[in-house]
Amino acid sequence: MLHPPRQSLQVAAVPSQRVPVRDRDQDEPWHTEAVCRRDEAGLFFAPSKEPTAARLSREDAAKRVCARCPVMVECREHALLQPEPYGVWGGLTAAERRVVLARRRRREMELKQTARTVAAAG
Ligand code: SF4
Repeated sequence: MLHPPRQSLQVAAVPSQRVPVRDRDQDEPWHTEAVCRRDEAGLFFAPSKEPTAARLSREDAAKRVCARCPVMVECREHALLQPEPYGVWGGLTAAERRVVLARRRRREMELKQTARTVAAAG
């Protein structure tokens, strides 16, 4: 899936259909195994003005695809590191990825604080 702003990896939010990866994305070794390389059903990105119930249903369907994808872990990390702002990646919606990232940031801050405390005491 590729997102309009960055057109990074799998496919784009071109009207309900994924498009082939861009050249630079083909360097991602895991990408060739992505189950969603062709998203004919348009599961991974929201069409404009999508009602909430339809969005939830579509996202659930996308997550079921991700659950059987052999590169889900790699895809998820890619989406978190970019970060990818839209769509379902690695079994997570954009909102879920924001939660994961916030937890990571909080955890990193806690670890840094612990390291400073230990250094000051030592
Ligand atoms: S985990 Fe989901 S979004 Fe990622 S490559 Fe696999 S099917 Fe596509």
